[in-house]
Amino acid sequence: MQPATVAAQALGWIDEKTRSVSPLIHPSSTFIRDPDNQYRSGRVYARSDNPTYDQAEAVLASLENAKDAALFASGMAAATAVFLSLKPGDHVVAPRMMYWLLRSWLLNFATEWGLRVDLVDMTDLSAVKAAMRPGMTKLIWVETPANPTWDITDLGAVSQIARDAGVRLAVDSTVATPVFTRPLDLGADIVMHSATKYLNGHSDLIGGALATRQDDEHWARIKMLRTQLGGVPGAFEAWLLLRGMRTLFPRVRTAAASAQAIAEHFSRHVLVSEVLYPGLKNFAGHANAARQMSGGFGGMLSIRVKGGEGAAIATAAHVRIWKRATSIGGVESLIEHRASAEGPDTPCPRDLLRLSVGVEEVTDLIDDLEAALADSQR
Ligand code: PLP
Repeated sequence: MQPATVAAQALGWIDEKTRSVSPLIHPSSTFIRDPDNQYRSGRVYARSDNPTYDQAEAVLASLENAKDAALFASGMAAATAVFLSLKPGDHVVAPRMMYWLLRSWLLNFATEWGLRVDLVDMTDLSAVKAAMRPGMTKLIWVETPANPTWDITDLGAVSQIARDAGVRLAVDSTVATPVFTRPLDLGADIVMHSATKYLNGHSDLIGGALATRQDDEHWARIKMLRTQLGGVPGAFEAWLLLRGMRTLFPRVRTAAASAQAIAEHFSRHVLVSEVLYPGLKNFAGHANAARQMSGGFGGMLSIRVKGGEGAAIATAAHVRIWKRATSIGGVESLIEHRASAEGPDTPCPRDLLRLSVGVEEVTDLIDDLEAALADSQR
């Protein structure tokens, strides 16, 4: 089966007992012990044993070509589990440009807890190589395309650096989605998703997921942490996530085609100084993106408004169809002045508007943004 078929049919699963084609929800928090004191079902307690997770995890593992996958209560719960599976004193290398809250957590809590953290320009391979500390570096964390400038990291090259240094590579692939990139096939060890975004796709749940290339000791430690820290989704969220994943391919392909059209349109606009989108030929990471993203360049782009921060905020205030809200990857298009969301120490340019393209008619989105840019001048 092609990945789009795997997703649409949730691996072709049906419930034998009821003949239902829609998966079942298992709300039970606990499971029966056998008379001989064993738990032959393999399930004890639903703080990670919930059967509702099974199918969503199996579908994600299949889409990522992974040995196993695990759902978490949020993208942050998934990402922080990867870092907390290391030991105090371990060194990690992460990108300067990445999802801001994870960067902030790394620089504050994780550093206080004992991790040594270096942020580098992940697009500069010599900087990544130079950041390796033999014997100490245990993890390279990559986000590609990276929030909110959509920098592209060459996954093949960075995985080679990781292999040479004996270091694990984890990739936040939230924006690429398994529709366009399969990081494990390019040498990554772990893939992370904020399932809140494209995997679910309807802006109605918070969730996260990890998928692994190897079912090894490190993965067992991450799963143990999930059980112990308890950052797990409820049964309903897991069921809703699987429902969202079944339309992943048509949603994401539509969003990416529209994002490409919007990027091309506004790169010629008199009030826009720059459009940041991996699908544009003049974008710095375009060649790498074309190599590791197949079939499209994702649904996220940013525009830099010529009039600066004030004009950018005014533009966002004048849209009617785009929704002025944070987050990404839903069926409805969102617009956000990103520097306002990230706070004063952000590396995000202050004239930047982040656009999450949904599945609406693309001409409506272009006309609305055109009108908002014009209105911002009045
Ligand atoms: N990674 C990326 C790229 C994100 O955009 C986000 C959320 O905005 C996260 C991680 C964190 O995910 P969550 O909000 O599900 O905790």
